[in-house]
Amino acid sequence: MDISHVLVTGATGFVGAHVVDSLLRKGIKVRAVARSKKKADLMKAARPQYTSLLDFYFIDDLNTPGIFDDAVKDVDGIIHVASPLNYSVHDYEKELILPAIQGVRSIMEASVDTKVKRVVMTSSFGAVLDMTKEESLPWTYSSESWNPISYGEASAPNATPQEAYRGSKTFAEKEAWKFISEKKPQFDLVTLCPSMVFGPLVDSPSSVQELNESNKVLWRVVSGGQSQPLPPCRFNFWIDVRDLAEIHIQALVTQSVGGKRYVPVAPEPFTYQMASEIVSEVFPSRRDKVSSGVQEVKTHIKVDQSLMNENFPTIKYRTFRETVVDFTLDNSPDNL
Ligand code: NAP
Repeated sequence: MDISHVLVTGATGFVGAHVVDSLLRKGIKVRAVARSKKKADLMKAARPQYTSLLDFYFIDDLNTPGIFDDAVKDVDGIIHVASPLNYSVHDYEKELILPAIQGVRSIMEASVDTKVKRVVMTSSFGAVLDMTKEESLPWTYSSESWNPISYGEASAPNATPQEAYRGSKTFAEKEAWKFISEKKPQFDLVTLCPSMVFGPLVDSPSSVQELNESNKVLWRVVSGGQSQPLPPCRFNFWIDVRDLAEIHIQALVTQSVGGKRYVPVAPEPFTYQMASEIVSEVFPSRRDKVSSGVQEVKTHIKVDQSLMNENFPTIKYRTFRETVVDFTLDNSPDNL
């Protein structure tokens, strides 16, 4: 599919910045959506070679209706990455759920009757995972699987932030598919539901606060100290952020993959124990800084990768070792 100018939301976030760089490397023009002028300026300054391909569009909050009406002008593709992924929240509905849903609505409404040919949305494995399933039962998730959580359960004050976040992604993705089936716009939709995303940030962070939620957990393993237990690992699916960015680009430009939902995961499972062992082995000076413990791979819980393999046959997934080493090197946790 011929796509030459792409609107990327969440461009100053962990995944979004990799998506922006992958597009720029392919010579595709990017209009990056940001809410922080400071972050946008830093990103632009770090990419002097792409001045002619990269510009920024500023929004205040995803929850504001109509924010993308002008942003979509002249673009022919959209990669909608932005969504609140923050577990330090108090009002789940206001801070997580409503912005996630409204963001999808605004981007899709704005794209009707424009040149936009496809919207790729970063959903989440949180929209796939069923936490009511007994953990010991064998189960295979696929792109047909949906998180059964209700709006009331996700927004309840006694829900965990993780439940509220998974709910926000479920409702936002459902909103996107509903829009397509009801409005039948000129563009089609691809949704990607990755599990834990790890890897280096495109521009090194200067503080732990700048790490996104999934890398914060990995950073705890790298630097938590031997007395710290490993973070819990409910399932063993993950993907390297650079592989996920490439999948976003292929999802946008490959005609035949349109109209479908995918669950991209690396073929190799991960545990935080593996991360701890990799760091100890590759960086001996960190041996007394890593958290330690024992974690089993739950081989009875699987993701059916056939649809991904069929539609994205050229993706070469990085190993967990490569991801952990690059994360540890590039993010220099000693300096954080
Ligand atoms: P991130 O670094 O926190 O990025 C989120 C992006 O969305 C940021 O650019 C942020 O803007 C923007 N954003 C968040 N809330 C917003 C709001 N209310 N209004 C406007 N913009 C808002 O997290 P990430 O890990 O890159 O996540 C990106 C996407 O991947 C999300 O859709 C997430 O659900 C999905 N995902 C992530 C993982 C993972 O493990 N990381 C796994 C599955 C799916 P600022 O830059 O201004 O903060």
